[in-house]
Amino acid sequence: MKKFSLTNPFIKKGSAAFLLGGLALVSAACGSNKDDAGETAPAASSTISIVAAENFYGEVAEKVGGSYVSVTSLLTSPDADPHDYEPTPDASKAIDQASVVIFNGIGYDEWAQKLIDASGKASDKTVIRVASDVMGHQEGDNEHVWYNPQTMGKYADYLADQLGKLVPEHKKDFMEQAQDYKQSLAPLSDAVASLKQTSPLPVAVSEPVFDYMAQALNLQITDEKFEMAAEEETDPSPQDVAKLQEDIKGKKIKFFVNNIQASSQTVQNLVNLAKENDVPVIEVTETQPAGKSYVEWMTEQLNQIEEVLK
Ligand SMILES: [Zn+2]
Repeated sequence: MKKFSLTNPFIKKGSAAFLLGGLALVSAACGSNKDDAGETAPAASSTISIVAAENFYGEVAEKVGGSYVSVTSLLTSPDADPHDYEPTPDASKAIDQASVVIFNGIGYDEWAQKLIDASGKASDKTVIRVASDVMGHQEGDNEHVWYNPQTMGKYADYLADQLGKLVPEHKKDFMEQAQDYKQSLAPLSDAVASLKQTSPLPVAVSEPVFDYMAQALNLQITDEKFEMAAEEETDPSPQDVAKLQEDIKGKKIKFFVNNIQASSQTVQNLVNLAKENDVPVIEVTETQPAGKSYVEWMTEQLNQIEEVLK
């Protein structure tokens, strides 16, 4: 599977219709390596093949690598729980053939490391574990580091540096493309800055996916034991459920954050209770929805909070 970014020099800039048609055309015409002007495009092997375990990391790789990379993302559906992901044979083949493999790490997607090891080519690959290599986290920390609004900018710089080591003659391009990407994050940093609370605002969460963002917004999570049980896929204790129910009924929380991608009957009951008691429910997902950029995805989630805090 080969994806071209819109900065691909072999796709002429033009109308959106042309671009859409052009993307399909160029992809279909890969084998011939000809673009529509008849010039020879670089063979697929001349681009760096990158596999990202999660689509949000793949998106950044496309932006930073531009026309010098081809990116495949494996986890792309917000309808399946990524914690339960079982790699397909295609995923295993993609990782086997990739020069660069990017995954989250610290226990979120250990299957990626297993596939790298199983390929027998681990030492030939550049491997980036974003949570540990970029953000300095370790196993046991909250895994969902892409919800930290600092992560993608740091990861873009780190990736530019790594790609520059692989193809030194394009190091400057990668650095410039990382710079452009970081500028595109401005709407997200603006939203975070405008929603950041001056004093901690109590909220509850269905599980820990949103926690780094909550921290950035100065939200105080009141149901830490409950969310940890959800993360560990164990049943929360009846006391923890009862406390959360009381907090909802007594409106001690400003809103309830529900990860709709990893839900349970217990959570659904709490969502219903919140709705009955006019406690707003903010819906978030673990995986970037199709057709939305990382920035759109994050800012749309933050817009729900903005509505509630108005
Ligand atoms: Zn999760």
